[in-house]
Amino acid sequence: MSGEPQDDCLFCKIVEGHVPATIVRETETTLAFRDINPQAPTHILVIPKAHHVDAATLAAEAPQLAADVLRETQAVADEEKLESYRVVFNTGSGAGQTVWHAHAHVLGGRGLHWPPG
Ligand code: AMP
Ligand code: ZN
Repeated sequence: MSGEPQDDCLFCKIVEGHVPATIVRETETTLAFRDINPQAPTHILVIPKAHHVDAATLAAEAPQLAADVLRETQAVADEEKLESYRVVFNTGSGAGQTVWHAHAHVLGGRGLHWPPG
């Protein structure tokens, strides 16, 4: 069920402490940790602790939680002293989504081209 921990979900396992991660921030409802394969000097993932498959589903099912995630992207950027940064929600395999638990990528610390690839 959406919102409930999923046994086969990597990010639920990180939330539960069953898979290690470099956690940089935690709130009652969110977790932020460093991406294992960073694409920029700062590359941090912000996730809701509750399981929702992607950002749009999260926003539809739990709008306050979606807002919590967005607020945390700014908090992460502040902690990393990023003046400019990019927040990305890959949605669907064609856009590069590989983990089916909603997550915001916070990327910064280098110039970021537009449009992205
Ligand atoms: P996406 O491709 O948008 O679904 O993003 C998933 C991200 O999770 C990728 O950038 C991966 O590098 C990252 N990732 C995969 N496994 C781990 C892990 N164990 N700890 C931290 N980040 C991970
Ligand atoms: Zn999950």
